Amino acid sequence: MLGAGICAGAQSVPGDVDVVIIGAGSSGLNAAHRLQQLGKKVVVIEARGRIGGRAYTDTETFGFPFDRGCAWLHKADDNPYTPLAKQWGYTLQEHDTTLEGLYFRDREASAEMRQLSARIEMGLDTKIAKVGRKKDAAASTAMRKKSEIDEAVATFHGPMSSAVDLDELSAKDYLTIGTDVPPNLLIKEGYGSLVAQFGKDIPVSLNSPARRIRYGGNGVQVDTDHGTLTAKACIVTSSTGVLAAEKIRFDPPLPPWKEDAIAGLPMGLLAKIPLQFSKPEFRYQAFQDVLRENIGKRDIYFLCWPFHLNLLVGFVGGDFAWELSAAGEEEAVDFAKNSVRSIFGSDADKYFVKGSFTKWASDPWALGAYAAAIPGSAGAREGLRRPLADRVFFAGEACAPRWTQTCGGAALSGIETAELVAKLVKQA
Ligand SMILES: Cc1cc2nc3c(=O)[nH]c(=O)nc-3n(C[C@H](O)[C@H](O)[C@H](O)COP(=O)(O)OP(=O)(O)OC[C@H]3O[C@@H](n4cnc5c(N)ncnc54)[C@H](O)[C@@H]3O)c2cc1C
Repeated sequence: MLGAGICAGAQSVPGDVDVVIIGAGSSGLNAAHRLQQLGKKVVVIEARGRIGGRAYTDTETFGFPFDRGCAWLHKADDNPYTPLAKQWGYTLQEHDTTLEGLYFRDREASAEMRQLSARIEMGLDTKIAKVGRKKDAAASTAMRKKSEIDEAVATFHGPMSSAVDLDELSAKDYLTIGTDVPPNLLIKEGYGSLVAQFGKDIPVSLNSPARRIRYGGNGVQVDTDHGTLTAKACIVTSSTGVLAAEKIRFDPPLPPWKEDAIAGLPMGLLAKIPLQFSKPEFRYQAFQDVLRENIGKRDIYFLCWPFHLNLLVGFVGGDFAWELSAAGEEEAVDFAKNSVRSIFGSDADKYFVKGSFTKWASDPWALGAYAAAIPGSAGAREGLRRPLADRVFFAGEACAPRWTQTCGGAALSGIETAELVAKLVKQA
């Protein structure tokens, strides 16, 4: 069903709305909210049966809120969601990743080794930024040695944070990424719940994938399974994974510079393997961080017992996350359980209740976690942002003006795009 105020069916509704927004994730909801504030008529069409996109809190699997997508509210002192979370009484906990446990396979690193890793980490961050300011090379070129401790540190800058291995990440693009920009807050009730509460009064037509956007004549026509929407402009917030898979057809076809931009920003993958136990916090304390560094990039990081819940949240990223996603949930949970056994002791098996695995890799409306520019394509974000014929606009985490890859960055992108569109629509 199309939402209130929009006619369903084969006939279009010329002039009925100013702007059609494709996607009800953080970016689309913020764009709609801003356009409404500016007095524009909008409708959001969403392919899924829910709003929030990659901001999604699952309350069913464990009986308490678990964020399948974004969880940390990054750059909290400047993030548009922070005042809302406070106003609406969400439970916030500051959490920066500081390794309380580091394992090389089954061998636990000493406190000195962990301190050394923290020092190397600061150094690597500076080195990647230095490379990025000079050239659009792979972030891995900033790593001189490749000892096991260097690899452990690289894991946090690559797969666990940027969602790609460092050799697949442009060092220049690294400078735009906001996935670990402090202050970082975790939200007990879920980041997805917060985004859903923000979007609850925005007119969204659920289960309405946009199949084709026609922009060759006047305005735009957006074809859905329920009919055609006509508007002065549209904002596309689909992930670059969805765009690359050509789930939306464009008529006229996308120009080569837009196709290059999409190809330069492939989706990276961060996947979570939450494991629930019957015993309250053991071995590590609530909010502590543990990394198990394995040979051949099969690394896993655990956020321990967030908010004192009986949950270890395993994270895998980059190439290894794609590999586990192809292998399936059972294999992923087994892999995480094996790692828990070697870190927390074999007793952990006795207390294991159940595990799960996030499936963003195969989710047809995401096809990955978030986008990272490949070496040589740092300019791709600019190309992705650039509108077509001043009528088809693009927004979302990959277009974010700051803190790319994040939910807060997606919101900013939606707001800024809405302001630009509002000016153009006024002139039209
Ligand atoms: C595992 C994981 C962990 C993450 N951790 C964090 C974190 O801790 N902190 C953080 O800030 N960020 C994190 N992120 C990133 C964050 O979730 C995203 O950057 C943000 O939610 C993206 O918002 P968006 O609006 O750009 O895109 P989306 O949320 O993907 O919204 C786009 C919407 O468009 C819809 N859509 C797509 N195509 C069509 C179509 N053809 N027709 C209609 N609708 C369509 C989709 O269904 C979706 O709802 C994480 C992401 C993942 C996957």
